[in-house]
Amino acid sequence: MESEKKLLSIIVPVYNEEKNVPLFYEKIKVVLDALNYAWEIVFINDGSRDNSIFELEKIAEKDARVRMIDFSRNFGKEIAVTAGINSCRGDACIVLDADLQHPIEMIPEFIKKWEAGVEVVVGVREKNKGEGFIKKAGSYFFYKMINRISDMEIVTRATDFRLIDRVVIDEFNKLSERNRMTRALIDWLGFRREYIQFEANERIHGVPAYSFWKLVHLAFNSVISFSLFPLKLAGYLGVIITFLSGILGVFIILDRYIFKEVGFSGSAILAVVILFLIGIVLICLGLIALYIANIHAEVTNRPMYIVRKKKRVIPESLRSHNIS
Ligand code: UDP
Ligand code: MG
Repeated sequence: MESEKKLLSIIVPVYNEEKNVPLFYEKIKVVLDALNYAWEIVFINDGSRDNSIFELEKIAEKDARVRMIDFSRNFGKEIAVTAGINSCRGDACIVLDADLQHPIEMIPEFIKKWEAGVEVVVGVREKNKGEGFIKKAGSYFFYKMINRISDMEIVTRATDFRLIDRVVIDEFNKLSERNRMTRALIDWLGFRREYIQFEANERIHGVPAYSFWKLVHLAFNSVISFSLFPLKLAGYLGVIITFLSGILGVFIILDRYIFKEVGFSGSAILAVVILFLIGIVLICLGLIALYIANIHAEVTNRPMYIVRKKKRVIPESLRSHNIS
C-alpha cells in the first residue's frame, strides 16, 4: 500500500536559481519516482532576487508533494537548510543544492546506507570541477586548521550533501544557536555516520552565491563556535611574553648590581619593563577570555549530551503527511 511507504524529504536551499529550479525538479522527480518511497521536496527560497520564487510557486501549485518556504530576505544557506530540516516531515531528509552540483543520481546509494542503519550519510566531494585556486586552497587550509584547534574531527571536503535520519533531525531541531554552520552541527550531534564519495558537477546556470568573503566569514564563525583556541590565544601569548621578559629582567638586575658586565641602557630596561607589563595584561585578557568561553558555552545552550533514542513509530492515523 502506498501510504505505508517511508517518507523521504528533499531539502533544497534556493538563492537566485531561476534557471536551475525547473531543471532540478524535472530531474529529481525521475530519480525519486523510481524509488519505493513516498517523498516531498521542501524548497527554501532564501530571498532570491530573480524569478526563482515564481518558478517555485509554479511547481508547488502543480505538485502537492512540493512545498516552499519563502524567506523575507536572504538569510544564508545555513539558515535556509536549518529551516528545511525544521519543517520536513520525512523519516529521513536529504539536503541538496539547487544548482545540480550534487549528483542526484546518487540518492539511491545514500538511501541504501540509511536502510542499513546509518543515521547520517555524508557526501564527500572528490573534485570540484571549475573551482578556482583560492577556493581550493582556502578550503584546504580551513579544514587543516579547524581539525587542529577544535575538539571534533571534521572530515575534509565533507559537504552539505547528506542524508539524515529522523532521530538526528529531532535532535538537530533542539539546537538553538544562531550563528551556525549546519554541517558542523550535524557532525557535532554524532550518531552513526558514513561517507560517500562523489564528484561535484559543474554549475549549469547562474553563478555561485558564496563569494570569497562569505566563505571566509563562514569559516571564522565555525572556528569560533567549535573551538576556544582563538580565545585562549591572548593568554598563551601573555604567558610567553611575561616569561621571556621576566628572565631578561632578572638578568638585567643581576648585571646591574652584581656582574656589571653588559651595562644595559635605560631605554633597554624600560623596554623590558613594558614588555613584562604587556605580558601581564595579556594574561589577564586570557583569564577574562576563559570566563567568556564559559558564557559562550552557556549561551549557545547546546545539550550536554545526545541520547540515541529508540525510533518512534508513529501510527499511520496520526501521520500528518497525506500522500497518495
Ligand atoms: N544558497 C542559499 N543562500 C545563499 C547562498 C546560496 O540558499 O545565500 C544556495 C544556492 O541556491 C545553492 C546552494 O545554496 O542551492 C549552494 O550555493 P552555491 O552553489 O552558491 O555554493 P557552492 O556550490 O559554491 O558551495
Ligand atoms: Mg554550487
